[in-house]
Amino acid sequence: MFIRTTIKLNGVLSLVVMCCFVSCTQNSLTGKRQLTMMPEAEVQSLASTQYRDFLKSHTVLSQKNNSNAAMVNRIGVNITKAVNRYYASKKNSSVLNGYQWEYNLVSDPAVNAWCMPGGKIVVYTGLLPVTVNENALAVVIGHEVSHALLQHGNQRMSSSMLQELGGMTLSVALSKKPSVTQDIFMQAYGIGTEVGLMLPFSRKHELEADRFGLIWAAMAGYDPNEALAFWDRMEKASGGQQVPEFLRTHPSDAIRKEKIKSYMAEAMSYKGK
Ligand SMILES: [Zn+2]
Repeated sequence: MFIRTTIKLNGVLSLVVMCCFVSCTQNSLTGKRQLTMMPEAEVQSLASTQYRDFLKSHTVLSQKNNSNAAMVNRIGVNITKAVNRYYASKKNSSVLNGYQWEYNLVSDPAVNAWCMPGGKIVVYTGLLPVTVNENALAVVIGHEVSHALLQHGNQRMSSSMLQELGGMTLSVALSKKPSVTQDIFMQAYGIGTEVGLMLPFSRKHELEADRFGLIWAAMAGYDPNEALAFWDRMEKASGGQQVPEFLRTHPSDAIRKEKIKSYMAEAMSYKGK
């Protein structure tokens, strides 16, 4: 019995070690190893298609004629420049090679925003009454950009693919089970539109995205302190019948706000950099 259990355990352990050998990557921001089975280039290519489809099925507001759409674009450009400067200072710019940043505001009452792999950003008009000002929107966009840079969606997608499709590679899954794969993608990146499809990011992922998001906002010339007022407003917005989409994927509580306060000094030290 003991021998059989040991063999079984060894088998599981070797599988984990083997999987990790094949699939673990080191994140360039945190330096930590993470399970990303989906090659980032393939995920970015899928994101590009999904982004186009999403924009086609929504009303995209013109950056020339709509001041809010222009604001989303302005913040996006400023945050991107900050990210580029940060990676350049760490001599890590090659990590950003596949990124083709896009920033769009869509007319949709959902309280939501997200960033797909490769820097494909969407803000919903429903979020603007909660962000209220440009500093708060910069904090939100900074947070979403961080989820993409930290490959949180890739990690979520990797574990869902392992559970639901037995670890099929992305290209095989896309040809054999296209709709399941697309659903997994949308859920992993917080883009689900139906109730029940929204999967909350873990506290660990949320705090990592908060920490770096505040840094990008500060480097881009915005006031990261607005994050606290924003989260207060977001919590208040959940007082109605429906919890905002953004809050379902990015849960907030007192611990989160305390952590944000503790990240502020670090973020402010990046002002003007
Ligand atoms: Zn988040």
